[in-house]
Amino acid sequence: MSVTGRQLCAEAEERLRAAGIDAPAGDAQVLFLHALSQSLDRPVPRHALREHLAAAVPTGLEAIYEPMIAARAARQPVSQITGRRAFWKHDFRVTPDTLDPRPETELLVELALTEHFDSVLDLGLGTGAILISLLAERPQARGMGVDLSAAALDVARGNAQIIGVKAEFAVSDWFSSVSRKFDLIVSNPPYIALNEMPKLAPEVRDWEPRMALTDDGDGLTAYRALCAGAPAHLTPSGRLMVEIGPSQGEAVAELMRAAGLVEVTVRQDLDGRDRVVWGRKPASRSA
Ligand code: GLN
Repeated sequence: MSVTGRQLCAEAEERLRAAGIDAPAGDAQVLFLHALSQSLDRPVPRHALREHLAAAVPTGLEAIYEPMIAARAARQPVSQITGRRAFWKHDFRVTPDTLDPRPETELLVELALTEHFDSVLDLGLGTGAILISLLAERPQARGMGVDLSAAALDVARGNAQIIGVKAEFAVSDWFSSVSRKFDLIVSNPPYIALNEMPKLAPEVRDWEPRMALTDDGDGLTAYRALCAGAPAHLTPSGRLMVEIGPSQGEAVAELMRAAGLVEVTVRQDLDGRDRVVWGRKPASRSA
C-alpha cells in the first residue's frame, strides 16, 4: 500500500527529533507542504494539510521531501529550505546570504512608523525586510538600502520588486557609498560578540551569514561606525534607529550621545528585552 502524508510526516518528525530539533512536528509539516507545492507545481495552503496527510502522497514526493528533511536534520533553518520568511506584512525571500528576518525586528519597524519621514536609509539591509516594510507603509518616501554583500543586495532587490516598492540599492561599507542626508536611518547590524558566537543555535551559527551576525569583536563595532557617520547623513531632527542585543542598550545609548544625538531612548521587545535604541539629530539652530 502506498504511503500516506501522515506516515511520511511521522517518519520525518522522528528524524528531526533525533537531530535535536525543538519543534519537529511543525517543521516536518511545513516542509511537507513545501514539498507538496513543488511536486504539484502549485502553492498548497496550510488549510489543505489535513486532507493531504490522510491521502496517499503523489508520485515523486518522497524524492523531493527527503533532501529537505536531511537539510533540516543538519540544522539548516526552515526559512532557508523553503526560501521564505514572513515579516511585518509581507513574505520575504531569504537565502544563505541573508539574515533571516526575525519577529523582534518588527519593533524597529513599528517605532520607525511613529513619525513622519520623507527619506529612509537602511544600512546592512540583508533581505530588505526593514526598508521594504517601511516603504510599503510610506509609499511617498524615498528609500535607499546598502549592504557590503552584493549577494544580499540581489535578494533585497528581488524582494522590493515582488512586494512592489522602489528603492535605490548600493554596495557600501556602512556610509562609504552614501552621500545624501535622510530623515530616518535604520539598521540591524551584526551585534553578536565573538565570544557569544559558540552559544548560538546551530541554525544561526552554522547557516546564517557570519558577516550579518558578528563583528568578530566586542559586538559594538558597527554601532561605532553608525553613530560616527549618522550626524553627517541625517537631516535636522532626523532619527538614527538601530536594533541591539539585549545587553547593549546602555553602551549603544552612550555612543549615540557621544555622537551628539539627543532624546536617546532604549525600547524593549515583546519579551521585555532591550531591543531598539534611537536618537535624534538636534534641529539646526537656524530652523
Ligand atoms: N538577532 C540575531 C540573533 O540573535 C542577531 C542579529 C544581528 O546580529 N543583527 O540571532
